[in-house]
Amino acid sequence: MNEIFKGSFTQQEPIPDDGIAAALEVMRSGRLHRYNLALGEEGEAAALEREFAALTGARHALAVASGGYAMATALRAVGVGPGDRVLTNAFTLAPVPGAIASVGAQPVFVGVTEGLVIDLDDLAAKVDEADVLMLSHMRGHICDMDRLMDICTGSGITVIEDCAHTMGAAWNGIPSGRHGLVGCYSTQTYKHMNSGEGGLLVTDDDEVMARAVLLSGSYMLYGRHGTVPPEEVFAAVKYDTPNISGRMDNLRAAILRPQLARLDEQCERWNERYRVVEAGLRGTPGLQVIERAKKERYVGSSIQFLLLDWPGEAIEEVLARCLTRGVELKWFGAAEPAGFTSRYDSWRYAPSEPMPASDRVLRGIVDMRLPLTFDLEDCALIARIIRAEVGAVWQEHAA
Ligand SMILES: *Cc1c(COP(=O)(O)O)cnc(C)c1O
Repeated sequence: MNEIFKGSFTQQEPIPDDGIAAALEVMRSGRLHRYNLALGEEGEAAALEREFAALTGARHALAVASGGYAMATALRAVGVGPGDRVLTNAFTLAPVPGAIASVGAQPVFVGVTEGLVIDLDDLAAKVDEADVLMLSHMRGHICDMDRLMDICTGSGITVIEDCAHTMGAAWNGIPSGRHGLVGCYSTQTYKHMNSGEGGLLVTDDDEVMARAVLLSGSYMLYGRHGTVPPEEVFAAVKYDTPNISGRMDNLRAAILRPQLARLDEQCERWNERYRVVEAGLRGTPGLQVIERAKKERYVGSSIQFLLLDWPGEAIEEVLARCLTRGVELKWFGAAEPAGFTSRYDSWRYAPSEPMPASDRVLRGIVDMRLPLTFDLEDCALIARIIRAEVGAVWQEHAA
């Protein structure tokens, strides 16, 4: 009898009780709007900003409506506008090119390696094409950040980091989001903290922060933010920075603060699960696990593997067989974007030269979520199912 997995790949943990209590408190107060404070009150949004800045070691943090809003705000705050070109990863998700397009700019895609990180040789070859890199740490894979920063600093490229999948992660001891000028994070339900929708950005740069605060809709109440640059910095930019409301409200911030306090613990729980699945998949014929760099402290909230150079029908067969046993895999190689999978060639508003080496990798990427509602037994079972089904299809096609 074949084992079947019964868990749900889209079921997250509940909001912790202290988060629920804090949310009720905000609702009872009626002061949900980000600038609606009682006398002497800091407010949940400002407190979250202060705490997130402390956690990442940044001078400033801004809590906003979504990760996509954080990225678009970062682009605007560093001066990207209509007609500009912005380098970004070919392997990422739709909110990233979407943020670039939302400010009227044009994404220029950089390839992906078999380690699922940005191809630094391709990046080095494209440095003359743009002044800004929106670097997406897609699915939590962090490239050699030392080399990336050398390339970008040497060519005058401003780096903005998309840390939607690396909140709590680090490269060589430096938190993800702290290498570039701005780090952007998401608190959408499937990320490392859950407020439904939401995002944060961090920076050490006073002027970028002042612009981001004004952009987020401060109505000149910027003094009420959790981390604020000096008044003279605002004075220099406040008359020429448009208001595009999108700062986070107090209700969502209240839900997030107790989660922030537990972030490290949660990341460790993800990694326990990741390691069980990885160990169970390692050595499966035809399947390549993604090796992680020693300097990378990752957060295994999802796992990827490669079925490199497999025919598309064989990969589809693996997915179908796993699904009948309850294991939901996503494939980046599918001809049509489905669910959350997407690829540079599915964004037709951002045309690109073909990238054959990246296409080969993208065609082989299989992706799976690892929600914390799975226990370690579940993870071992999932790995056994994938191993068996990949093995069966591999043998069938070899025969
Ligand atoms: C989720 C996500 C974002 C941000 O998305 P929002 O839904 O706007 O918070 C950015 N980049 C990647 C790779 C993502 O998966």
